This record gives sequence, structure tokens and C-alpha cells, in this order.
Amino acid sequence: MAKKRVKLRLKKEAKIGLIVIILLIILIIFGINKYKEYQYHQTNEYKLLEKNYSKDDVSLILDKLDQDYINKLIDSDYNDNIVKFINEKYFIKNNLDRYLAYFNNNKNVSYTKIVSLVNTNRDSDYYEKIKETDVSKDYLMLVNKYNYLNEDFIPNDMVNVSLSYAFSGNKIRHDLLDKFVDMANAAKANDILMVINSSYRHFDEQKKLWESRRLSQGTDKADQYAARAGFSEHQSGLAIDIAQYNSSEEDFELTPAYNWLTDNSYKYGFILRYPKDKEDITGFSYESWHYRYVGVEVATKIHNENISFDEYYAYYIENN
Ligand SMILES: [Zn+2]
Repeated sequence: MAKKRVKLRLKKEAKIGLIVIILLIILIIFGINKYKEYQYHQTNEYKLLEKNYSKDDVSLILDKLDQDYINKLIDSDYNDNIVKFINEKYFIKNNLDRYLAYFNNNKNVSYTKIVSLVNTNRDSDYYEKIKETDVSKDYLMLVNKYNYLNEDFIPNDMVNVSLSYAFSGNKIRHDLLDKFVDMANAAKANDILMVINSSYRHFDEQKKLWESRRLSQGTDKADQYAARAGFSEHQSGLAIDIAQYNSSEEDFELTPAYNWLTDNSYKYGFILRYPKDKEDITGFSYESWHYRYVGVEVATKIHNENISFDEYYAYYIENN
């Protein structure tokens, strides 16, 4: 009998022990879950979802923006423009605040256009936010109304162009000459005779050119058609104005040479530098005759993506 009572007591104690263990386990699991929840509430994901960004938006934001900017989003109201700008092909994260500012002042301009304009500094006036051209980029250097060449900059590998390929007195960089000759010969095979009308221009020469335009036409017109000294691509030795024999520069667009170049110049590394639909980006009136050497690879990309060199430079060179 006594043995049986002991057995029963043991059974009862085991039961209580088991219940205590189960309760402990439940408590631990609950605790872990609470802790996990607490931790999740500290994440960017949770905080952004709380701001009403969708799950897709959040993964995009986490993928494309830095922590500093994410903190800023967490501290401010939901803004649907953020994701719209991030989704733009040429989105540059360091420009996001400038896109938003531009949008606020120009609500009728498309997101795509705003990205293009801001990337190429068009949220500042021409000649306003200027910096010296990074000439270490060599044949990919950018010279425009925001990037200037020093007064002393003269390319060191320039050669004279023979009269078979240019009107008198033209100099261009050595690599370009080979490419231009290849291109001109290919055009010639199609009965098109093209020559270099104007090429390298010294700082002082550009200065005189702009000054004389300014005196005769005023500053606005001078700026529309000519670059100020230091801001001309012709000083880089990488730009050429092309002419067709027996045709004026102004009529170049109407020549077979122009049509041929439109289809083929990129294959030789040349791009039309100031296209008709990019005047607000390049800051220059359309020039059907002004070509710029950038190499075959870059010229092909610019041709395929239908962007200006200014846009290419901002996104593919400066952004990397
Ligand atoms: Zn030109």
C-alpha cells in the first residue's frame, strides 16, 4: 500500500513538472516572438511600410537609396514622387533632392525630362555652376556651358589634316584623324565627298569669335550660337564641323552627307553633338554639321539610347 502511495505522489509531481516546463516553453516562445517583433519594428522596411510606401516601393527604396536618405524619408511624409524618380532609367541618387525641387517648381514637366535636365545641371543657368573639365577623361572629356577648359589647355597630339580631307589650316587630334579618314572614305564609296570645315580652335580664337558675335548680335544670340571662351568643344580638339563639297554649312542638313552621317557616323566613333530635340539640354541651337568624337563604343550607346553626350556623361561617367 505505501509503495503505491509513493508511486502516485511521484506521478503527480511529474505532471506538475511537465506543466511548468510547457509553460516555460510557451513563455520563451512568446518572448522570442515579442523580441523579433521589436527588432522588426526597428528596420527600415517596417518604418517605410508605416509611412505608407508599398512593399514594392520599399524594396526599390532599400535597393537604390543610401541610409542617410532613407532616414530622411522615415522622418518625413509619404511622397509618391520618390518612387517615380527612382524608376526613371537615368536616375542618379545624389540628384534626388534636386529632381524633387525641380518638380515643385515645374509640375507640368515629365519625370523623364526632369531627370535629364537636372542630371545635366539645367536646374542652374548656363555658365552659373561651372567647373573645370576633367581632361583625364581624354576623348570622353565633357566641355559644355558648365564645364570649361583652362585658357592654357591645348591637346598635345594634334596633327594637320591634309587638304584631301579638310579646308585649309585644320588640326585635330591624331586618333580622330584616322577615324575621320575611314569615315570619309566610306562615304566616298557612296559618292559622298565630305571634308572638315572647322576643327581645333585655340582659347583666344574662341574668345574673338564669341566677342564679335556679341558685338553684332548681343549676348543672348551670341550664347545661342557660339560658346564662350573655354566652353567650346572645339578647344578640345575632339570636335569637327563637317561640310559637303559644294554646299554651305547652313544647308548641311539637306545634303546626302548629312543623311549618310545620321546612319553611319557612330560606327566610326562620331556623334551629332547638338541634336534638334536636345537644344534645352546642350544649350546650343541644332547644328547638323558639328560632330564630336567619343569612340565607337560610346557613340554606339549614345546612338542606340538617343541621348546627348551631356546626358551620357552625367549618368555613365560621372555617376560611376
Ligand atoms: Zn562646331
